[in-house]
Amino acid sequence: MQSRPRFEGPSDLHLHSSASDGTEPPAEVMAAAHRAGLRTVALTDHDTTQGWAEAADAATSLGMTFIPGMELSARHQWRSIHLLAYLIDPDDVELRALTDRIRASRLDRARLMADRIGEDYDLGWDDILEQTSDGATVGRPHIADALVARGVVRDRTEAFAGILSPQGDYYVALYAPDPVTAVTLLSRAGGVPIIAHPAGRAGLLPDPLLSDMLAAGLAGFELGHRENRAGATRSLRRVADERDLIVTGSSDYHGLGKPNQPGENTTSDAMVARILAAGTGSAPVYP
Ligand code: AMP
Ligand code: ZN
Ligand code: FE
Ligand code: FE
Repeated sequence: MQSRPRFEGPSDLHLHSSASDGTEPPAEVMAAAHRAGLRTVALTDHDTTQGWAEAADAATSLGMTFIPGMELSARHQWRSIHLLAYLIDPDDVELRALTDRIRASRLDRARLMADRIGEDYDLGWDDILEQTSDGATVGRPHIADALVARGVVRDRTEAFAGILSPQGDYYVALYAPDPVTAVTLLSRAGGVPIIAHPAGRAGLLPDPLLSDMLAAGLAGFELGHRENRAGATRSLRRVADERDLIVTGSSDYHGLGKPNQPGENTTSDAMVARILAAGTGSAPVYP
């Protein structure tokens, strides 16, 4: 009998490429992860699985195990919630319809924001297209890069703190499903849904919402993330312990777009094994 292929740590399960708002193509992201000493990686672009094939090839040829993933946009009232999902079926009809809708809305929204910004600054839609790879999920980071190229701001951080801030005059919200619907569809697509950076600046999710998400199939929390705050992280760790949930740690690498570096947080082998055992929509790719 053939023994099951096994992964090895260290594992970083939250990386972005130019298929969404990372600055490097998937193969370069995998090379950066490999240079950082990682042995198991997941590509988790926003609302798309477009980068999987290139990333899987690059990762495995470097001797790393590749776990297919995505970071799905959701929203509860004013608050944006990101759901990491591992091992989803990329062809699931309902999930595809949802991600198509989110990406279409992101495009409309980026155009609206560009129009608004263009009234006060020297910025046009072409500037944003120039910063966006073909078919990529568009986001505010691409607008930020266009503002940098135009010399309006120094970097993405400055753009987000000012012109692109949700509190500013130029902000337009994107369509995103409510988190319970999002978790339900991800679970139905065979995925393992985990709340990304759940203890960030916005504070903890309200308890009834969290319970509803758990009932819908939420599998755990990304507790190791530089944006998480200590107090809120401790309280989520208690919830995870009580309910035996999965907890992960990852970098949220965006290439040059953020200071986050591959491997700055990692996920334990035991937790990676639980994700691999729970996901049924797609398969990890072994070297
Ligand atoms: P959007 O999805 O278009 O609303 O943009 C949110 C994305 O921008 C997130 O995925 C973040 O990774 C990225 N982002 C948020 N704040 C910053 C920042 N200060 N610097 C760089 N990227 C950021
Ligand atoms: Zn991002
Ligand atoms: Fe996120
Ligand atoms: Fe992310």
